[in-house]
Amino acid sequence: MSSGKGKDTDKTNTYEVRKDRVVTNVQGNPINEPFATQRIGKHGPLLMQDANLIEVLARFNRERIPERNPHAHGSGAFGYFEVTDDITDICGSAMFSEIGKRTRCLTRFSTVGGEKGSADTARDPRGFSTKFYTEEGNLDWVYNNTPVFFIRDPAKFPHFIHTQKRNPQTNLKDANMFWDFLTTPENQVAIHQVMILFSDRGTPASYRTMNGYSGHTYKWSNKKGDWHYVQVHIKSDQGIENFTNEEAVKLAGENPDFVQKDLFENIEKGNAPSWTVYIQTMTEEESKKLPFSVFDLTKVWPHKQFPLRRVGKLVLNENPKNFFAQVEQAAFAPSNTVPYQEASADPVLQSRLFAYSDAHRYRLGANFNQIPVNCPFASKFFNPAIRDGPMNVDGNFGSEPNYLAQDKTYQYIQQARPIQQHQEVWNGPATPFHWATSPGDIDFVQPRMLYRNVLSKQPGQQKNLAHNVGVHVANACPEIQKRVLKMFAKVDQELASNIAKECKAAMIHAESRAKL
Ligand code: NDP
Repeated sequence: MSSGKGKDTDKTNTYEVRKDRVVTNVQGNPINEPFATQRIGKHGPLLMQDANLIEVLARFNRERIPERNPHAHGSGAFGYFEVTDDITDICGSAMFSEIGKRTRCLTRFSTVGGEKGSADTARDPRGFSTKFYTEEGNLDWVYNNTPVFFIRDPAKFPHFIHTQKRNPQTNLKDANMFWDFLTTPENQVAIHQVMILFSDRGTPASYRTMNGYSGHTYKWSNKKGDWHYVQVHIKSDQGIENFTNEEAVKLAGENPDFVQKDLFENIEKGNAPSWTVYIQTMTEEESKKLPFSVFDLTKVWPHKQFPLRRVGKLVLNENPKNFFAQVEQAAFAPSNTVPYQEASADPVLQSRLFAYSDAHRYRLGANFNQIPVNCPFASKFFNPAIRDGPMNVDGNFGSEPNYLAQDKTYQYIQQARPIQQHQEVWNGPATPFHWATSPGDIDFVQPRMLYRNVLSKQPGQQKNLAHNVGVHVANACPEIQKRVLKMFAKVDQELASNIAKECKAAMIHAESRAKL
């Protein structure tokens, strides 16, 4: 503990005395006495002319911006990405041009379902978004700590997220909503993500001790125009550490910001976390031989067939100076990309290309790119046809014409470089396609491998998975519980039986507690 003035390495417990600043109003006029209010006599009514009082109250009312709908509770830090291995045969982006090259970046971690003040140890996937300030403009990798996702039909996204949030009547988290959605046969494609979420990886011990995954398939190309499908893996150099269900629940009560504190304090102490970045690559030919679609966000690419190739290091060594300015206002979007890195046709990714920037236009305003943390400071924003709008603060391109025309001196034709139209060729009728289920058992194959081949080698992890599902589903009604057991039996019968036992034990425990 520290007290009084002066510096302390524990910034969460630091108090600095400053006597060298004159307090002003927002116009820079000095304020005489900030807590005095203008009134008639000592105890008479207040005066409308008290501009200071009106300003502080009105500004206070306007402090909150809309919180993100998913991913509201987050933490962030700055750092750099350093190239350790040459991948110029795969990707021509400037950030990978030479070994040792560093690019400044900002990473924001988050939980998904909870509100801004919710516990950051909650069972939930974690967001893992990184903005790279490259000389070719800003690049955002908007990833999660799991390599797969719950859905592959993007129109289901709002429905799914609603089930993770609150019941519209009770305003409570609702196990029936949660499992009703996930066990509906056409939504059971979520099982792979559900398995990971209910393993102990669903409650990471810190943001420092978890991995990040692109999840989606991307398309990267080299300067010759050769291209590959790519998945990115960002693996923690601190190793994986998770809480058990009970540890996470306990901490949620004791310190709902446990994970935020861990990240801030470790960076402040000089214990900068780092991650090693790898890619998996796949040719178009290879993708045609897969037993599933390369655009299916519910599947991983087996390591044996598509080995990890090391690219570089991500280091987070600088805490934000101001959380609101640099983390709350940070605007990540998968559509923010650089030459040679493109989105694939994964339908969920295609929808995110629209939805993320749209969320920022709503949350921060159309000129969110002018907020310093979002500015492409290593490049330059020049497009005088994009202008005006609320809170335009960067000079608005001065006297530049507000249209582009070829006889001006603008260079707006990119040098020829491979773009999507020159790669895959799409044709077919426009059709409503609901990608609900796959033929046969394919959506359960990888979840089964996770249970039987991966968790089986980690002591206690199969048991913890059954326990974590059991204590959660104990809050649902009997009909939904039956559906949950039936779904997990498709993964593994032993897993379903153990979930049933854990569920029963949790219900007995809850009943006996209720009688106390
Ligand atoms: P591998 O044995 O090569 O890979 C297994 C991977 O499982 C590990 O590399 C590790 O990923 C990950 N893992 C370990 N514990 C957990 C957990 N509790 N929850 C989620 N993932 C965990 O086999 P395959 O590549 O053939 O994959 C087998 C299964 O492993 C898949 O069906 C999938 O469920 C899971 N998996 C595969 C990944 C992939 O990209 N191939 C990535 C993550 C999971 P890491 O080293 O990244 O921590």
